[in-house]
Amino acid sequence: MRKIGIMGGTFDPIHYGHLVTAGEARWQFGLSEVIFVPNRHPPHKEPGEVSDPEHRYLMTILATVTNAHFTVSRIEIDRPGPSYTIDTIRELRRTRPEDDLYYITGADALTQILHGEWRETEQLLGLCRFIASSRPGYSVDPSVWSSANHRLGARIRNVQTMEIPAMAISSTDIRARVRDGRPTKYLLPEPVEEYIAKHRLYMGAPAGAREMGLQA
Ligand code: ATP
Ligand code: MG
Repeated sequence: MRKIGIMGGTFDPIHYGHLVTAGEARWQFGLSEVIFVPNRHPPHKEPGEVSDPEHRYLMTILATVTNAHFTVSRIEIDRPGPSYTIDTIRELRRTRPEDDLYYITGADALTQILHGEWRETEQLLGLCRFIASSRPGYSVDPSVWSSANHRLGARIRNVQTMEIPAMAISSTDIRARVRDGRPTKYLLPEPVEEYIAKHRLYMGAPAGAREMGLQA
């Protein structure tokens, strides 16, 4: 039985916070591989709020290509409609019945899960394990843990946490830096930086502001 990590995200763009999280999870939990799964349409965002899925997919490939233990899946990119993790995990369970699946998240996503904000949270926790990493700016309130413990019962044991070297990097900040002409060097892999420049990503006003007719 192989232990497989799954690193889901919007990756708009992928950065060193994602890569360190995946690398540390692989090391700390003895995973044989981490599969990056860029989503097509994050359920909590309007489709126009995120970059074209193919751009995000290609940037994820560029960022992971030098690591022999990292792969990228098109499973969510190719599935129409909002990308729900439960659908992805069910499909992976079907296609890899002999593998043990570990879904990797940051502390912000863990809080959403413990609040039951992800579709079919309880079923999800029964189908795979979760590894939640520390992330600067986010912590999980012990009262959230205890109420989730109460609601989720034994399934909460499928959630484990890990400390990683602090990486105060977010895609939101990188997009704002590109838009404002501030440096992004050392926050994300160079090929991804070059891809962003080549395709002139993140240059305009944020999508929300554009829709409202606001200037950046
Ligand atoms: P955005 O600012 O657009 O939300 P993001 O930086 O949060 O982007 P996502 O694609 O939303 O990146 O995150 C994918 C996963 O990676 C989530 O589980 C998130 O918690 C985790 N993650 C992102 N950045 C970090 C970081 N710096 N440290 C630890 N985990 C992170
Ligand atoms: Mg995020």
